[in-house]
Amino acid sequence: MLVSQLSKLYGYIPEIECVHVEPCHKGNNGIWDILGYYESVPKLIHICEPEIHKCVDDIKKIRLREFGRLEDDMSSIVLESSVRELVRLHEHCHALLHTCSFKGFTAPNHKWYSSLSPDICEPLVEFISRVLVEFVNNNILKRIFDFIDNKAPPYYKRWIELMNIFIKRNLKDPSGYIPGIVSVLREEGKLKNFEHAKKVIEERWEDINAMSIAFNLSMFKD
Ligand SMILES: [Zn+2]
Repeated sequence: MLVSQLSKLYGYIPEIECVHVEPCHKGNNGIWDILGYYESVPKLIHICEPEIHKCVDDIKKIRLREFGRLEDDMSSIVLESSVRELVRLHEHCHALLHTCSFKGFTAPNHKWYSSLSPDICEPLVEFISRVLVEFVNNNILKRIFDFIDNKAPPYYKRWIELMNIFIKRNLKDPSGYIPGIVSVLREEGKLKNFEHAKKVIEERWEDINAMSIAFNLSMFKD
């Protein structure tokens, strides 16, 4: 559901998913990349079912402790499907940053993607992911996103700083600007740190705006 929005909005061609039924033990990463992970070579998305089940159980325990029951709109099956959808979205956003050409608008660059350190890559991925969650405007997905995001290391949560750039400009829906953002960041080449990425976005705002309008018009024509 969420991943299909990446295709609809950006012309993203989904990479292959590999579903693990045995624990993945990806203990050194932030929560999103423990529940799943993306391998840029050979462009493979991993979904870690045992870790997802554990996360669902943790959410259930907290909900039961807080409310004495699961809320009516958050049954076990809805909860589990939502966590899985959000993990898939996170990993496909990694792949989008790596491989999406935005319909030929900006060339994917493996060297550039591989050069991104986690403190740059993860907040960017979380930003794109959260923008999509806002775009579909589903309250359960927003609540579960927040729950998982709260467990993520602080550098993951710097997506909020990117969201603030839009709030400052009174722009409620950043989804149309993702092609421009990815494009200027790829053009910049190696990014030193997250501050550098933010500076490029702020300083090249006019380019982002123009590129995003051009991309969205070309999608509209299709
Ligand atoms: Zn990640």
